[in-house]
Parts: sequence; structure tokens; C-alpha cells
Amino acid sequence: MTAHRKTNGDTAASFVRRHIGPSARDVTAMLEAVSAKSVDALIADTLPASIRQAAPLDLGKPLSETEAIAHMAELARQNQVFTSLIGQGYSGTILPAVIQRNILENPAWYTAYTPYQPEISQGRLEALLNFQTMICDLTGLDVANASLLDEATAAAEAMALAERHSQVKAQAFFVDKDVHPQTLAVMRTRAEPLGWELIVGDPLTDLDKADVLGALLQYPGSSGALRDLRPAISALKAKGALAILAADLLALTLIASPGELGADIAIGSAQRFGVPMGYGGPHAAYMAVRDALKRSLPGRIVGVSVDSRGAPAYRLALQTREQHIRREKATSNICTAQVLLAVIASMYAVYHGPEGLSQIARNVHRRAAVLASGLRKLGFAPQSEAFFDTLSVDAGAKRAEIVARATAEKINLGIGDTSLRIALDETTTPATVEAVWRAFGGTLSYAEIDATTREALLPEALKRTTPFLTHPVFHAHRSETEMLRYMRKLSDRDLALDRAMIPLGSCTMKLNATTEMMPLTWPEFATLHPFVPREQASGYHALFARLEKWLCDITGYDAISLQPNSGAQGEYAGLLAIRGYHASRGESHRKICLIPSSAHGTNPASAAMVGMDVVVVACEKNGDVDVNDLRAKAEKHSNDLAAVMITYPSTHGVFEEHIREICDIVHGHGGQVYLDGANLNAQVGLSRPGDYGADVSHLNLHKTFCIPHGGGGPGMGPIGVRAHLAPFLPSHPENRHPATQADAPVGPVSAAPFGSASILTISYIYILMMGGEGLKRATEIAILNANYIAARLDPHFPVLYKNAKGRVAHECIVDPRPLKVTSGVTVDDIAKRLIDYGFHAPTMSFPVPGTLMIEPTESESKAELDRFCDAMIAIRKEIAEVEAGRFKIEASPLRHAPHTVHDIADDDWKRAYTRSEGCFPAGTSRTDKYWSPVGRVDNVYGDRNLVCSCPPVSDYAQAAE
Ligand SMILES: *Cc1c(COP(=O)(O)O)cnc(C)c1O
Repeated sequence: MTAHRKTNGDTAASFVRRHIGPSARDVTAMLEAVSAKSVDALIADTLPASIRQAAPLDLGKPLSETEAIAHMAELARQNQVFTSLIGQGYSGTILPAVIQRNILENPAWYTAYTPYQPEISQGRLEALLNFQTMICDLTGLDVANASLLDEATAAAEAMALAERHSQVKAQAFFVDKDVHPQTLAVMRTRAEPLGWELIVGDPLTDLDKADVLGALLQYPGSSGALRDLRPAISALKAKGALAILAADLLALTLIASPGELGADIAIGSAQRFGVPMGYGGPHAAYMAVRDALKRSLPGRIVGVSVDSRGAPAYRLALQTREQHIRREKATSNICTAQVLLAVIASMYAVYHGPEGLSQIARNVHRRAAVLASGLRKLGFAPQSEAFFDTLSVDAGAKRAEIVARATAEKINLGIGDTSLRIALDETTTPATVEAVWRAFGGTLSYAEIDATTREALLPEALKRTTPFLTHPVFHAHRSETEMLRYMRKLSDRDLALDRAMIPLGSCTMKLNATTEMMPLTWPEFATLHPFVPREQASGYHALFARLEKWLCDITGYDAISLQPNSGAQGEYAGLLAIRGYHASRGESHRKICLIPSSAHGTNPASAAMVGMDVVVVACEKNGDVDVNDLRAKAEKHSNDLAAVMITYPSTHGVFEEHIREICDIVHGHGGQVYLDGANLNAQVGLSRPGDYGADVSHLNLHKTFCIPHGGGGPGMGPIGVRAHLAPFLPSHPENRHPATQADAPVGPVSAAPFGSASILTISYIYILMMGGEGLKRATEIAILNANYIAARLDPHFPVLYKNAKGRVAHECIVDPRPLKVTSGVTVDDIAKRLIDYGFHAPTMSFPVPGTLMIEPTESESKAELDRFCDAMIAIRKEIAEVEAGRFKIEASPLRHAPHTVHDIADDDWKRAYTRSEGCFPAGTSRTDKYWSPVGRVDNVYGDRNLVCSCPPVSDYAQAAE
């Protein structure tokens, strides 16, 4: 570090000060408010001494923001940017700059949370509805969800859906041999614990004989072959089996849709709609189904309902059938998805419109046709006559030579068992095509070959004849000015972290620092295909190795897998590791998974996915796990005990004293301890799960380690394990993790070996700039902030759970249920009234129905905490007015919340309170008012009248009447 930078105040210490909200003076005042002598004294009251980590966290010397960017540039230089024509589900694409800057690089979009509060999420809900409409149109199916984690997990989810709906009772499923290899591998991982057999073959010849419940067919195939799959689909239908097509969205602009071909389900990736490959992700996967299957569709679905004035309003549909309610009966554990990437893909379609997309597809197809002519001339006829953008050729003995020449041209080809694959994309130029010809041994001119290549190579029977993207939204934003304003209009409707604190318990909505966000869009990180030769990704691998080491130091575990793309996917991977471990010891019968009743819904859902049987453990009145019940159940199931899944600090926001004892009990009966690490923000630098008895955890990098929530994804859920579980971490058929073998016992859980690799840069830079001391300080202040809120709110809304010393961990639950008796106020009323005060509601009804769970994180300043507490206290006063009989709850501003411009402009105002009481409650600014664009959204209406794609514009007019 130069002296010059130091004098500019850009030091590592200054980043820690910027990441952490409260100043030194604030900390003093807050300690006083919580009656603690010092931060150390507060922590001593909060964490049991028995689990405190002995040695301070030493992660090396932290860097300043300037130094961190220089360091990242150094890593970036170690990645080599080749032109990747590997295909296999990943394509080069051009992200329009206006979308990159105004969505991907815009905190108004990337810092938003999952749209559980629809009134403050209308902008991103509209963008997601556009995504669903685009998917429905292109696939020709009726209902689409708002994204899954990647194409391979979408295929596994579709197989599970087919298993539930098939009329065939067989436990076998057919997979096209021309499917992407990573898709097949992830499906094998999913099928094996559930006892489903996978039959791999040629759908046009092998399907008739197969007794299968359904089939996954790739369209066009991974090799590039474009086959008419109608006979295969008819054969499946004749049996009563389900047909799933994994379809390429760009190809679908030119070829017949899965729906037209008769498919029941379509899945795939939306990556090539403007989302950089990022060495594996993040990207949005899609799933669309026939109407009859819509209520089983996994993941989140955006629907249209009406608000309190009968105007149309967007919301998440069918929320009650989500995994949080179904728990161990759940069929999918999907929680965090890929919202930001789905938004980008939808905007790519809004930007280009149907004509633009078709033109891109025609260009890519034309280049591929010219490439094919040239290759034929050189003696390498493509293996399939019909193709869209990808060719496979048998290179025979010349294979190695061709690959070497391509490498010299800085081109990566797809390398199959016997063939070479060349996948073109939007970025392919005539120069690229000529370079490929040179690699195949000939010097040809693109212009000349182009002139002699005939038009119209797509088979007549497979041409698309149906229109798509007919909705006006895909036509009205062709100029950049219109596009810019459309994105701005939508983001203005939403409340994200760039406007106000989002106090969602269990979600850890902390600062996503700008410096952390910058490198991921640099070409050296953004444009790498996940299956490039490892030496082209040396910068990435250096980053992975260091990040894994740091995460081991932080958690006390011995090994990390960076593969899982969400917390829930990490749970699934961790339970697979436990399962693999038991099996390796001849104890495959261990299938019982103990889960406390307070657990997050993804826990039992993940256990069900790996074929475990969930036994629920009771909780005590104070929220702690009932250790006696746990002991009794562990004893009862001693022979078959696989694991316990426990969250620490508890979902109730308290460090339970019994955690070591719980681990010992489970180990004593031969079980493993899965510790849900979603709440690691309360532990970093203070205690380590690997030290106090846990065997495996997932770490939500999108909570504790600063990856922004993106409005509901992306995320990353790496898992840490103790050494005995390391051999059972997820493997991958492509880049192999050094910790795993080629014949690894556990297959992949994600399409890419390192999950959404590009966003690992965010967590890496965060740790790099905080250092061990800074991270510990962040944890301490997160705990102080939570205790400060608890102390301020307790007199008004009692804090439900505290430890014996009266402390909470990094979050607290406040309990308004008694007020329902005295005033009729509901937790919903409080949540919606907070919108009028300019806040996002805390977590509602988890883990305790009817309560609010508040997590401030270390990043919120005392001023913002006070603003929030003042709003809550003012709301309590409004409730007191109802209690005192000023008006009934139905007539109160609480029930009418949130208030909108329609209220303030109401010529016929007949409410029992004034318009300004409704719209500008105590302490809110008239200048900086956040206006909810819609009134309270009617959930029941929306589920009864399920509309999940853009309705015709006339419907809007009707509903508004
Ligand atoms: C957030 C969370 C999860 C799930 O994480 P996702 O990334 O959304 O899948 C699991 N457990 C707990 C306690 C959580 O808070």
C-alpha cells in the first residue's frame, strides 16, 4: 500500500468502517441502551462460553478497496479469454449495455429481496411475469415458473414432477442419449436415492420397448442434431408417460415449440438471452408445463390478482403450496432461485422483441450452415443433416491435431468421445468460422462459402409457424430511451436495500458493497465457459482455493464444496454426503433424519429428496430444541439414525446452551450432525460449527457473505464438511474437484462444477477487505444491533425469546399476537403499515406464526435502526388508538395500509382518519416518500383466478374499472 493511498483514507480499516453501520460513538450509545459495559461483555452474555472459538480468526492482511480491485485485476489476468464453441448448454451472448448497467450493475435491482411483500415488489414482479410470458410463448406451453437454478436441476425437478403425475407405475425414466452430459449426471444423483432407474437411449428407436414413467429429450440435441421428436412423444403418450423436452430458447424462435410437438413439460436455460456464462453461472433455468400440471410446478410462480381498489396487481401465486407449508411432504426444496438473471433474460426479450430474437437466431443458424458447407469441403461432413447452431463431426485420427490448431487460434471446441462439436452463438463472426476451418486444415473464405450455401436448411416439418411475444411489452421498447425508462419505471416501484433497511430475519440483508460487485462483469470473469480447459481459468482456481481455505478457517471444517447454487441445494448436497458416508460403512439403512419443529421448510424438503424419513423433534416453550424429546427419539431410532438437522443459532434467534449436548447425543447413536449455517452471520469470528460438534453445514453466501439477493436469487450455498465426509462431496463429470475422484461416490448437484462461479468473486472480495478482525467486528455489531432493536421494541412489542441473560443473537422475534385480542390487528396489518413508513416488513410468521422476526445486520447505522424502531413504536400507538376505540380495526389506517396516490387523491374520502394520517404517518418525509404503487393485494382472489402470464391489455382496463 502506498503512502499516497493511505493519506486518501482508503485503507482496509476504512472499508470495515464503511461496511459496518454504527460509528464508535453510536456503539457507545447502543451499549448503554442495552445495559452492557462493552461489546465483549455483550458477546459474553450472548454466546455460551463453551462454544467460543479459541484462536482469533487469521485470514491474512486485509486489503483496501483500491488494493482489492488491483488484486482482482491480477487474478483476472490469470484467466484466458478464448472463443468457446463448446456448447453443451452454454453459449456466448451479448448483454445489451443498457441492461448491464441498469439492471445487473444497479442496486435498485440487485439488492431487492424475494417478492414476498407484493405491494413493494410490483416492478420485479412485472419483469418476472414478462419472463414467464416469454417462456410460455416460446415453449408453447401454458404455465411457466419464475426460474430454477440451472438446466440440469430443472431436468431433475421435471423428472420428479413426472414421477408424481405419470399414469405408468414403473420406477424407470428414459433419458435421451443426446442430452447434455452434466444434465444426465445431475439426474442420476437425484434418481439414485429415490430408487428410480435411468434408461439412456435413442428416443427414436429405443423408447417403444422401454417401460418408463416419462422421458427427457433434448431439442436440439447436445450434439446439435435437430430431430423430429413427434414419434417419441407419441410413443410416450400412448403409454401414459410424460414427455419432457429440454429446449434451446433461441432455437425455438425458428423451430416448432415443445407444446406443438405434444410435450407435457419443457425445461432449459435462459443463459443465452444476454446472461454471461460466468464460468458456470449464475443463469436462470426455466420450466413450463401443460395447464393440468400447473399446481405441481416447483419454484415460484408470479400471478396477477387485484388490490384493495380492484386494480390489477402482481403477486407470487400459490404461495401456500410452497415447501414451507408442505415440509417433509414437499417434492422440491427450491427456495432461492435465479430472479435477477430471469429479469435480465426477460429484458433481453423486451429489448430485441420477437423480430430481433428471430433475426439473431437466423444469423446464428446461417453461420452454422456456412460452417457446415466449408467443413464438408474439407472432408468433415456434419453427423446430422439438420441442425440449428451446433455441428458434430467425426474427426477420426485427426482429432488431437485439430484441437491443437483450434487452441492456437484461441478457440475451444467441444470434445466428445469420438467427435468434435462446434457450437456457434450470437457472438460468432465470419472470422471465427474461418478460424475453425483453419483448425480443420483448410483456408476458406467465408464470403465465398456463404455465396454457395443454400438457404433454408431447417426441416420443413420443424419450422415454427406460431407467433410469440405478441404482448405489447415486447414491442414498445425498441429505442434505448424507451428501454432505459421502462427499467427505471419498474425499479422505482420497488423497495430495495438502496432505499431502506430490509429487516428480514433469517435473510441477512446486509451491505453489498460496490467494490465487491465490480469484477464479476469483467470479461475475464464473465465470459468463461464452465468447461474450458482448467489452465484457462487459473485466476478462478486461485480464487476458489483461497476462498475454500478461508471458509474452512471460518467454520472449522476441513473441506468445502463450492458447487451448490443455493442454501437448499447445499442442504441436499450435505445430506447426500451423510448418506454416502453411511453407505460406505455398510449402513445404508440409516434413513431417519431428526428435524426440530422450528426448522426452515427447506430442511425437511431436502431430507425427503435424498430419501430420508423425517422425524420431528419438539421445541420447548422458550423456543429451544426439547433435548429430552431429541434424546428419546434418537434412542428410539438408534439403529436407523442418519442425521439431525439443526439451525444454529436457532431459528428463534438465540444461541441455545445445549448445542454440544445435542451433537453428542446424535453422534452417540451413530448419526451425523447437519448444522444449517444460514445464521452464520451471528458466528463468524466467534464460534465455529466444526469445533463444537457439527459434521456438515451449508453457508449462504447470499446472506453472510454479501452476494446480493437479486430479488430472489442468485445465491450460493457451498457446504463445509469434516474430513470424514470430504470423499462424499459432490463430484462433476467435467472439471473434477481435487477432493473427489473420477468414480466419486456422490454425483453432481449442479450443472457446473463450481456452481455460480462468477459471483464467488463477491464473497471473496468481502473477506479479502474485512480480514479476520473485521469479520469478527461485523458479527459483534450484528449482535449489538439486534440487541439494540430488542431493547427499544420490547416495551412496545414483547420480544418472544431471549437467552438466560436476556440477550438475543443476531435477530429477534417480536410478538404482536396479544394485540390481536385487544384490537384485532394482524401481523399483516403491521407489515403493510410499515410500507407507509417506507420500510420493508420483517420476516412474517417464520418460525412462529403471527410474529415478526427482525434481523438488522451490522450494516445498518444507528440512525436507520432508530428510524425503524420509531416507525414500529408509532404503529404501536396507532394500535392503541384502535384499542381506545377511536375506530374499529377495519376502519383504521392499519387495515387500509399501504396507502397509495389513489388514497391521497380520493375526491370522496370518507375514512375515519385524515388523508395525511394515512399517507404520511408520524415521522415520515413528504419529500422522500416511497409510494406503494398498489393497495393491499388480495391473495385469495389471485389463487382462485390463476393468471401467470401477461394478460391481454384489455383485461387490465376491465379490472381497473
Ligand atoms: C435462507 C435459509 C435457507 C435456504 O436458503 P436458500 O438459499 O434460499 O435455498 C435454509 N435455512 C435457513 C434457516 C435459511 O434462513
